[in-house]
Amino acid sequence: MSRKVEKLKYCPAGHSSEGFAYPDYFDKRNSILSDGICSLCTKEHLIQEFKNWSSENTEIDKIIQESQIKYKYDKLHWIPYYNFQNINHIADCDYGSVYSAKLENGIKDD
Ligand SMILES: [Zn+2]
Repeated sequence: MSRKVEKLKYCPAGHSSEGFAYPDYFDKRNSILSDGICSLCTKEHLIQEFKNWSSENTEIDKIIQESQIKYKYDKLHWIPYYNFQNINHIADCDYGSVYSAKLENGIKDD
């Protein structure tokens, strides 16, 4: 029985696929996609962007920042209200209201 050896991949910034990106995941290797986008570069970019956005609530900012540092997928993002268009009220419930809206520039899916 032969053991499959995965080839190391490097991103343009020099991170390898064996880098340590997200400690909470079973697969603790860094992910480098075929187009060179690397999860360590994405994580570093998100951390650098912390100073460029705020919900104006330090607890909410902290929750969003932690999700961007800890989670490889399904990261939270802060979207300012003025980024939404075509806002329509859908329904009210005990916990709040539900609206639909269009987001012009979207969020980069990493
Ligand atoms: Zn990288």
